[in-house]
Amino acid sequence: MNSVEKSVVLFAAKLGYQTRSFASAARKLGVKLRYVTDRCHQLPDPWNDQAIAVRFAAEEEAAAAAIQALRCAPPDAIIALGDTPTIAAAYAARGLGLPGNHPAAVQACRNKLRMREVFRDAGLPGPRFRAVQLAPEPEPALLGIAYPSVIKPLSLSASQGVMRVNSHAEFREGVRRLARLLQQPALVTQQGPQSQFLVEDYIPGVEVAVEGILLEGKLKVLALFDKPDPLEGPFFEETIYATPSRLAPETQQAIHRAAEQSARALGLSFGPVHAEFRVNDRGVWPLEVAPRPIGGMCAASLAFVSAAHAEAIGLEELILRHAIGEDVSGWQREPSASAVMMIPVPRAGTLESVAGAEEASRVAGVTGVQITARLHDAILAWPEGSSYLGFIFAKAAEPAAAEDALRIAHSKLHFDIRQALPVQHPVSGKIAQP
Ligand code: ADP
Repeated sequence: MNSVEKSVVLFAAKLGYQTRSFASAARKLGVKLRYVTDRCHQLPDPWNDQAIAVRFAAEEEAAAAAIQALRCAPPDAIIALGDTPTIAAAYAARGLGLPGNHPAAVQACRNKLRMREVFRDAGLPGPRFRAVQLAPEPEPALLGIAYPSVIKPLSLSASQGVMRVNSHAEFREGVRRLARLLQQPALVTQQGPQSQFLVEDYIPGVEVAVEGILLEGKLKVLALFDKPDPLEGPFFEETIYATPSRLAPETQQAIHRAAEQSARALGLSFGPVHAEFRVNDRGVWPLEVAPRPIGGMCAASLAFVSAAHAEAIGLEELILRHAIGEDVSGWQREPSASAVMMIPVPRAGTLESVAGAEEASRVAGVTGVQITARLHDAILAWPEGSSYLGFIFAKAAEPAAAEDALRIAHSKLHFDIRQALPVQHPVSGKIAQP
C-alpha cells in the first residue's frame, strides 16, 4: 500500500469485465477507484458503488457534473474506457487540472469525418472521402462514388453500421439500412440524431491493430496484432487478433511510424491508444485511432513483464500505473504469442443454447473461453450488431499455433440461434420483419 493513497476515476459507459479488471489492479496497487457512468441517474446508487451518474452524450455537462462531484476529493488521474466517455473524460481531466488529452483531439477521434480530415491535412495516406446527407435519399450517380466504397456512420464503434458497397444498387440499399440503424432509439439516445454518414474508397490490404500508450507525447507500442481473417466486407465484424505480428520487420516498423504519426496528427499526447491500420503495397493507411484501451475482454490477451518486477501484469494495471505517475517504459509484452477470437455472430435471432464450451477450453493452447452473450437474449448480426458471442483466448510459442488453437476451439462451439419469424398483422395483413 502506498503511504499516500492515490485515487483514479474511471469514466465507463458500463460496469463490466473491464471495470472489474481495473478494480482488481487498483486493489493490488492500493489505488482508490471511483466511477463515472451513464447509468440512469434517477436511481439512487443501485449498485452501491457511489458511481457518479452522468449522460456521456452531453459531454461538457457530464464533465461539469463529474468535476462538481469530485471537487472536494480530486483524483490523481482520469481514465476513459470505451469510446462514448472519452470526450467527457477529457473535459473533466482538463477542468480538474489533471494530465490528459486535449478535448479537441479526443473529439476528432470520435468523428470519422473529422479524423479523415486530420489525417489528410497531416499528409497521411487515406482514401477519397466525403460526408453525405442521409435525407433526402442520396443519389450515388451524382456523388461521384467509385466502387468498391465503404459507407459508415460518423461516430459508432466496433464496425457497427460499416458496409462495403460495390455498385449504385448496393450503395442505395446500404444507405437505407444505415438510416434505419441510426434511427434506433438506443442509438439516438447514445449519440443524438444523425443527419450524415461518411463514404470513402475501399482500401484493399491486410489489417492490423496497434495497442499503445502515449508517454509524454511519445508512443510506446505495447502490442501489434495481425488480423489473419480477411476483412473484405460486405460487413466488418472482427474475429481473430494475434500477436506478435508475422509481418516483415520493415512493415512492422512502418506501422509503428504510422501509429505515432496518426496520434501526433490528432494531437493525442497522453495515455492508452488503440489504432487500426490497413497495409498494402502503397503504404500504411490509418483507419482510426482511439484514445482508450482495446475494448472489453480483448485486453485479457495481453500480459506484460518487466526486469524490475517478478510478476506479469495485465493491460489495466499497466495503464493504472502510468496514470498515477509511474514510469512504465520498462514493461514489455510477455515473450509467448497470444491470440484472441471475438466469437462471430453467424445470424441474428434469439440465443437458445450454447454447447461445447468445456470441450473448446480443453483444446491445447487455449487459455480461456468466455461466452458473454446471454441465453434467450436477442442477438444482432453485423452491420446492425456490435456485440460478439464471447471470446476465446490462446497462447503458444508462435502466433500461428495460437491462431490454430482458436480455430479448433471455435469449431467445438455450437450456438443455437433461432431466427425470429416475420409476424403478419391480423387486420392489415402486413408482414412485419423482425
Ligand atoms: P469502427 O470505429 O466502427 O470500428 P472503422 O471506420 O474503423 O469503424 O471501420 C470498421 C472496419 O471496417 C475497419 O476495421 C475495416 O475493416 C473496415 N473499413 C473501414 N473503412 C474502410 C475502408 N475505407 N476500406 C476498407 N475497409 C474499411
